[in-house]
Amino acid sequence: PTERRSLIMLFGATGDLATRKLYPAMLKLFEKGNIRDHFAVIGTSRYKFDDEKFREMVSKSVSKESTNKKQIADFVSHFYFVTHDVTDLEHYSVLKDKANELDKKYQLNGNRVFYISMAPNFFGTVAKNLKAQHLLSEGNGFNRLVIEKPFGRDFESAKQLNDDLSAAFEENQIFRIDHYLGKEMIQNIEAIRFGNTIFEALWNNRYIDNIQVTLAEKLGVEERAGYYDNSGALRDMVQNHIMQIVSLLAMEQPVAFKDTDIRAEKVKALRSLRVYNVAEASSNFVRGQYAAVGNDKEYREEDGVPKDSNTETFVAGKLMFDNYRWSGTPFYIRTGKKLADKFTRVDVVFKKPLVDIFAFPQSGSTPLNANVLTIFIEPNQGFSLMVNAKNSEQGFHTEPVQLQYLEDSKRTKETPQPYERLIHDVLKGDGTNFASWPEVANAWKFVDQIRRVWDIQQPMFPNYIPGSMGPVSADELLARDHREWVFKL
Ligand code: NAD
Repeated sequence: PTERRSLIMLFGATGDLATRKLYPAMLKLFEKGNIRDHFAVIGTSRYKFDDEKFREMVSKSVSKESTNKKQIADFVSHFYFVTHDVTDLEHYSVLKDKANELDKKYQLNGNRVFYISMAPNFFGTVAKNLKAQHLLSEGNGFNRLVIEKPFGRDFESAKQLNDDLSAAFEENQIFRIDHYLGKEMIQNIEAIRFGNTIFEALWNNRYIDNIQVTLAEKLGVEERAGYYDNSGALRDMVQNHIMQIVSLLAMEQPVAFKDTDIRAEKVKALRSLRVYNVAEASSNFVRGQYAAVGNDKEYREEDGVPKDSNTETFVAGKLMFDNYRWSGTPFYIRTGKKLADKFTRVDVVFKKPLVDIFAFPQSGSTPLNANVLTIFIEPNQGFSLMVNAKNSEQGFHTEPVQLQYLEDSKRTKETPQPYERLIHDVLKGDGTNFASWPEVANAWKFVDQIRRVWDIQQPMFPNYIPGSMGPVSADELLARDHREWVFKL
């Protein structure tokens, strides 16, 4: 692998995300030689750490990833700590000096990645201060900003945030993390679609009846109640992850497999997504909140959740694209907490043959099934295709047969995790798997309409049992269209 030279300045270096995900991902990059001799990390937060203490923390956070002590020691020797309150302007000059010193020491060519792993209200502040205090590299090196979700809580706040970031960074320097885009099988959607005539030729409203996207979680809110109650499933999952998956499924073929072309197609798809009026929003989206079962509390009884909370822990909806490819073919989406299991999958339901020649009354043959292409995103990685075939008994009866490819668990385990891929992409300067501003903006405009309706209507909560696949209304949403969810209990 080619080593990518860069200084990584990490804000929020003592936080949960950094310790749980970012350091382990960086260690993998180090093991594989994607970063090796010419990189340095400056961790910052308000903690009074020195380099030694910081390195201990990083070693501990990667200890599960490797037993190679020498390698871990080499790795953490590239880590430095600066105590820094992001709102205090004076602290930036200390950071600047440190950055310049490490740039020389490790010959980083002035390349800088600024990774903000802090609460979103700090994103704008940090970006502005970095520019104002001259931390951006001024030579030939690159400057890249990485920010975490959430990107605003509606279109207005997202636009404000984007304006703040744009004051310091160009759009092509901003990498908005959506870790779903780092998942192997999400990236595989493009390979399946554009690498196979048998799918792409049929990938439209003439042959596809509907597409279903399910992101199910088994856990409840756990310790994140405070954050979650302010957000809800629509903002937390639909606006970002689901919209990204849907746009990859719906987009036209990009001119080339590169970030600018792919983004352009995703934006085009999202622009043709029908933004609902009040009546459409209330009939095409349903929400849910989980009830109690056994010893498990209902959502409103969880620590940190107000007793009268109307926050949804489940959402299902029907999306319509008003374009030539998709007109008339709905995309159904659903996501929620405390569902039957933790998994993500996409089901592409093809239309049945226009004429079923096997269904003459005396044959006793059951009607043909629809072909379904299922893309398993997690925990299993793979896909399956349901086809109709003759069963081998006397007479002529058709039956559904599954063609299935599931990666073995060893390979799945070796697959790079999203943060490893995404940090690597940032170092390469490849924006393919990040959300661009026009995508984010369009997704918010769609979601805001649903939110507007929900904010004035009183929901009947709680309305679903933990361990189910959500409220009955989610099934009714499809039943009304004479359809059903492919995955059901
Ligand atoms: P956290 O609260 O655990 O960490 C925040 C960090 O910021 C800490 O290091 C803290 O010391 C530092 N900090 C706080 N105020 C500061 C200040 N004024 N100056 C300098 N440092 C300060 O948060 P987290 O869970 O690591 O989340 C970080 C970001 O990642 C957030 O945007 C969050 O929404 C996002 N995110 C987190 C997860 C996750 O699993 N934790 C998942 C997805 C997205």
